Amino acid sequence: MKGLFGMGKKEQKEPKPADGKWLVQYDKKGCIGAATCEAVYPERWNVQGSGKAELKGSKSSDGITLFELQIGQDEFDKMKAAAEGCPKNVIHIINKETGEKII
Ligand code: SF4
Repeated sequence: MKGLFGMGKKEQKEPKPADGKWLVQYDKKGCIGAATCEAVYPERWNVQGSGKAELKGSKSSDGITLFELQIGQDEFDKMKAAAEGCPKNVIHIINKETGEKII
């Protein structure tokens, strides 16, 4: 007989991994709103009415312009393509384990 032990338990929806291997850094003040990032990876990038891109899910580490987001390997290729396409080179990816700046 099956019990009722599962009742009342809520399914927890996991957000995107916050403890990924890669740290994305975005310097918003240098953004010119070219939107290449959004074209390449719209799930994470969105150009706002202000003419600057927003890195979805990121937090500002200086409270002003430097935004950071940790991502897992599953997002690496798309984020790297967005960073490579940025004409102002304001998107960077750092390997958290080694400290190596990939771009
Ligand atoms: S590609 Fe670079 S300059 Fe263009 S909107 Fe994205 S972050 Fe800004």
